[in-house]
Amino acid sequence: MMTIQNDISEIVLSVEDIEAINTRLGERITADYEGKTPVLVGLLKGSIMFMADLIKHIDTHMEIDFMDVSSYVGTKSTGEVKILKDLSTSVEGRHILIVEDIVETGTTLNSIIEFLTYRKAASIEIVTLLDKPVPDRKLNVDVKYIGTKIPDGFVVGYGLDFDQQYRNLPYIGLLKPEFYS
Ligand code: 5GP
Ligand code: MG
Ligand code: MG
Repeated sequence: MMTIQNDISEIVLSVEDIEAINTRLGERITADYEGKTPVLVGLLKGSIMFMADLIKHIDTHMEIDFMDVSSYVGTKSTGEVKILKDLSTSVEGRHILIVEDIVETGTTLNSIIEFLTYRKAASIEIVTLLDKPVPDRKLNVDVKYIGTKIPDGFVVGYGLDFDQQYRNLPYIGLLKPEFYS
C-alpha cells in the first residue's frame, strides 16, 4: 500500500508528544486568560488541528475565529499580506491569542499583529506549536507560548502541508527530500 506515512523519513513529534504539549500550553493559557474571554485566532489552514486539540485543554470562557492570509508574491521584503478570509469577530477591546502552526521568519505574524493593533485589540499574544529558529527572523514581538523548538528541516503533518497535502497526518514528521526537491 502506498500510504502517506511512507513519505516520512522521521517522526519529529508523536501523537503523545503533541498531546503533552497541548496539555501544558492549555493549562498556562487557562491561568493567564481567566476572566478575560479571549478570542483564539487560528491562521488557516495550518493551525486547524492544533486549534482543535489545544482548546480542549483550555478551561476558561473563550471564543475561536479564523483568518486566512497569503503573502504578496514578489513583495516579500515589505512583509505585506493579503487577507483572503477576515475575522467574523470584532477585535476592538478583545484579548487576541493568535494560534500558529509554526513560526519561521515571522513575516506573516508581523503583518497580522499590525492589523489587529490597528483594529484596537486589548492585547495580542501568539501561541505556536513549533518554533523553527532561522537567522532571518524578523518578528517584532515575542512569542509567549511555544510548544517546542525544532531544528531546521521541512516538516509536515498535524495541519502542516507540503503543496496542500500531508495535513491529515496525525503527527509531525520530516518529509523525505525526494518528495519536495
Ligand atoms: P514565516 O512567515 O514565519 O516565515 O512562515 C511561517 C509559515 O511558513 C508557517 O505558517 C507555514 O505555513 C510555513 N512553514 C514554515 N516552515 C515550514 C515547515 O517546515 N513545514 C511546513 N509545512 N510549513 C512551513
Ligand atoms: Mg501558518
Ligand atoms: Mg503551507
